Amino acid sequence: PKILLAFGTRPEAIKMAPLAILFRNLNEYFEMRICVTGQHREMLDQIMEFFDLTADYDLNVMRPGQNLCSLTSKIINDMRPVLEDFKPDYVFVHGDTTTSTAVALASFYNGCKVAHVEAGLRTFDKWAPFPEEMNRNLTSKLADVHFAPTTTASANLINEGIDNKSISVTGNTVIDALHLGLEIIESRPSEYIDKLKETIDFSRPIILVTGHRRENHGDGFINICAALREISLNEEVNIIYPVHLNPNVQKPVFEFLSDLPNVFLIPPQPYESFIWLMSMATIIITDSGGVQEEAPALGKPVLVMRESTERPEAVQAGTVMLVGTDQRKIVDFTHQLLHDNALRLSYSGISNPYGDGHASEKIIRFLFPEALKSYDEKKL
Ligand code: UDP
Repeated sequence: PKILLAFGTRPEAIKMAPLAILFRNLNEYFEMRICVTGQHREMLDQIMEFFDLTADYDLNVMRPGQNLCSLTSKIINDMRPVLEDFKPDYVFVHGDTTTSTAVALASFYNGCKVAHVEAGLRTFDKWAPFPEEMNRNLTSKLADVHFAPTTTASANLINEGIDNKSISVTGNTVIDALHLGLEIIESRPSEYIDKLKETIDFSRPIILVTGHRRENHGDGFINICAALREISLNEEVNIIYPVHLNPNVQKPVFEFLSDLPNVFLIPPQPYESFIWLMSMATIIITDSGGVQEEAPALGKPVLVMRESTERPEAVQAGTVMLVGTDQRKIVDFTHQLLHDNALRLSYSGISNPYGDGHASEKIIRFLFPEALKSYDEKKL
């Protein structure tokens, strides 16, 4: 079978990498090609390099001043020659980006089957997060096969009338990526990790912060920064904050936090040093989706700076606490976690609702059970 994996942003690349690697390892059975749209150019390229992947097609779609309409139409247009050239049996898309929805639509128009990885996440508010919630809904309509990370996600799809037989609950490939990533950083030196070790004292408790979501731009980030300023009064802790390049994030963060000796404002980190930072952190404060899934696998408590999440499983499991952008909640929860050792340690005992790191295998097995025969034999 001919398989096309199409993606364009950093989180998609991270979460599709383990699948790409497994398809590549099964090259006696599959012909796999990768198409990138380049929606997050630099961050995407870093991930490709880290996982040793190369794109067979690179649409490089970003243009200055582009909006969602022009981006979507460009991806749809540019996908056509790719699909006509390769004629894939399945096009794999991921999650909720403009890339995934536009590629799914182009595939549908060209008569190709679509497999949707990380399907079924919902906030049930069509405007939040924007445009991701709508992107997810539309991709589900277009897809022929749906790989739901959890039973909650699968139930969402069934409630929308999607045929049970086309859904498989697999766990999230982000955990596969994390395991692979940690193995890679164990096995080879990293200049990025070495640089962090040189500049920051990791014997102190580390609070790792990331934030970029559109809905937090403006007052949200101002509150978050005020909370971090207050937390930094505790001189025992180091706050490490890889600051997203978006000017709506950069401006308040540098204005509020650049003069504090125990707050380290660093550039967005390559995946390798970011997962290392997560593994070193005592507490993670974030509005990222992927980090909510990764942190429980590392046994770390996460404060999520959002009002709602499409990842309720982690909240139910107790590893994720929704704090919104409320300064008091962020400060009080952090304080409690720093001072209550038993509470903090309890997070390492919670099992990860996003799976065991074998999601990619389950995905391929569902569609092509025969393909993994030789792989299974090798493992035995
Ligand atoms: N990440 C990274 N470097 C950073 C911050 C995050 O490599 O400085 C990784 C993180 O491990 C996770 C992914 O990027 O896998 C999350 O991406 P993002 O927060 O941009 O998107 P979301 O998950 O919210 O869609």
